[in-house]
Amino acid sequence: MFCYQCEETNKGEGCTVAGVCGKKDEVAILQDMLIYVLKGISISNIEAKKLGIKNEKADIFIANELFSTITNTNFNKTYFLNKIKEAIKLRDEINNEISINHDYDAVTWTPKDDEDILKKAREVGVLSTDNEDIRSLRQLLTYGLKGMAAYIHHAYELGKKDQEIFDFMQEGLSATIKNLSADELTSLVLKCGEYGIKTMALLDDANTSSYGHPEPTNVNIGVGNNPGILISGHDLKDLEELLYQTEGTGVDVYTHGEMLPSNAYPYFKKYKHFIGNYGNSWWKQKDEFDKFNGPILLTSNCLVPPKESYKDRVYLTGVVGFEDLKYIPERTKGKQKDFSSIINHAKKCKSPEKLEEGNITIGFAHNTLINSADKILNAIKSGDIKQFVVMAGCDGRHKERDYYTEFAKRLPSDSVILTAGCAKYRYNKLKLGDIGGIPRVIDAGQCNDSYSLVVIAKKLSEILKVDINDLPIIYNIAWYEQKAFLVLLALLSLGVKNIILGPKIPAFVSKNVLNVLVENFNIKPNTTIENDLKNLKLVA
Ligand code: SF4
Ligand code: SF4
Repeated sequence: MFCYQCEETNKGEGCTVAGVCGKKDEVAILQDMLIYVLKGISISNIEAKKLGIKNEKADIFIANELFSTITNTNFNKTYFLNKIKEAIKLRDEINNEISINHDYDAVTWTPKDDEDILKKAREVGVLSTDNEDIRSLRQLLTYGLKGMAAYIHHAYELGKKDQEIFDFMQEGLSATIKNLSADELTSLVLKCGEYGIKTMALLDDANTSSYGHPEPTNVNIGVGNNPGILISGHDLKDLEELLYQTEGTGVDVYTHGEMLPSNAYPYFKKYKHFIGNYGNSWWKQKDEFDKFNGPILLTSNCLVPPKESYKDRVYLTGVVGFEDLKYIPERTKGKQKDFSSIINHAKKCKSPEKLEEGNITIGFAHNTLINSADKILNAIKSGDIKQFVVMAGCDGRHKERDYYTEFAKRLPSDSVILTAGCAKYRYNKLKLGDIGGIPRVIDAGQCNDSYSLVVIAKKLSEILKVDINDLPIIYNIAWYEQKAFLVLLALLSLGVKNIILGPKIPAFVSKNVLNVLVENFNIKPNTTIENDLKNLKLVA
C-alpha cells in the first residue's frame, strides 16, 4: 500500500505497511482499485452524456464511493470488494449502451475473481504515476474531488443535486488517467476549488432549506439523567430521523465532534430530548465513547477503529464501514432509516458520565453574520476589531496541534477568530470573551460551512470596496483530511493569498508544485507562534 492523503501520514511521507489511521494494507489497495474503476466509469459516462444519455445512478455512485475512500470513513475490505464489482457492472452497462472502444484500461479491465482484483489493486495506486510532479497534481485533484464527494453526498441525501458538479467531478477524475500536462492539471486543480465553492453552496442550501438558518446558540456540554445516543459525523438527515424516532422514548440525543453545529439549527431545537454536545473532536472518541455509556451512531467520516470496551455500542450508517460493527441500512424510498435497534440498545444503558459542564456558543453562519454586518462594520471602523483571523479546518491527534490553542490564547484582544470545522475544539472552550457583543470565536459550523467564511469575505470586500486580500482577514488554517483540502482549494480559487497552512504541508504536494503555490499564492507552512504572530502583523 501507499497512502499519503492525510496530514498524519507516516513520517510525513506516506503509510506503506498499515495506516496511522488504522487502515489495513488490503483496504488501502482496494480503495485505490475502486477509485481506478470510478475513473473508468467517468470516462464512459462522459461519452454517454455526449450522446444525450444521462445516468444519475452513475453520477451519485461515483460521488458516494469516492466519499467512502476519505480518511476515517470505511475500513471494511468486503465493502470495497463488493463496490468494485458493482462499479465494474455499472461501467459495463454504460459501455454496452454506447459501444465504447477505448484505450483506457480503467474503461475495459475486467477481473476473473477476487484474487485478480487484489493483484490488479497493487498496480493502480498513487505510485503508478512515475513523474513526481504529475503524481502530485493528480493527487491534489483527486483529494479535492474526494472532499467534494462528501459534500455532494450530504446535499443529495437532502434532495439537492447539480448536474454541473457531477460533470466536473467526472471530468476531474478522468483527467487523472489522461496524459495531461502539469499546466493542464494545475488549472483543473484550481477549477476544483471553484467547484468546491459551488458544492458548499449547494449543501448550504440543502441544510438551510431543510432546517432553517443556524442561529446563535449556547450549547449545553453537560449531561442529563436519561440514557442517551451519541451521534457523530456530518449527516443532518440521519440526525433528523434519529430525533424523530427517539422522541418520547426516554432516550436523549447528544452530538459529538463535527455534529456539534447541528445544535444551532432551528428545526432541531424543537426536540426537548436533544440535550447538547458531548466531548470534543473526532480523535478523542476512544476516551469519550467509553464514558458515554450508551450507543454511538457514526454517520460519516471520523471513525477511529474502536476499542473492545465500547465496540458493541458502535453503530454505523451511510458509507461508513468497519468489519463486525453493527450497520443501520440505507433508507428505502419514502421511508426513514430504521433506528429502532440503536434506540432499544440505548434503553438498556446507563446515562452518560459527566465530562464537563457549562455551554459553548455556536451558530454564526453567514445568515447571522450578514444580519450583524452593521455591528461588525462599526467595530472595524472604530478600531475595536483590528483583525479577523481565520483558524478554520481540522483537529488531529498529534501534540503539535497544541500550537493552535496557544496561538488563539496569544492573539491580541482586538482580534476575532473566524472558524469552521473541528479545529475549533482547540480553542472554543477558552473563554476568550467578546468585543461589544461580538464573540471572539465566531463559529460558522462544520468544515463544509467554511462556505460561510467565503460569503463573509466576499460581502466585506463588496461593502468596503477593497480586494479580498486587503480585508482585515488573515488565514492560519489547520488541515487533516481531504474535505479541508477542498476548502483550501476553494480559498485559492478566490485568489486568497498569504495563507499559513499547518501543522504540516501535505506530503502529496511535491517541491515544484509547492513552489508554484508559493509563487502564486504565497502559501507558507506554520512555524513558531512568535514568528507567525509577527509574520501576520499581529504583534510588533
Ligand atoms: S488516510 Fe492518512 S493515516 Fe490513513 S493510510 Fe492514508 S495517509 Fe495513512
Ligand atoms: S474539520 Fe477536518 S477532520 Fe474535521 S471532519 Fe472536517 S475535514 Fe474532517
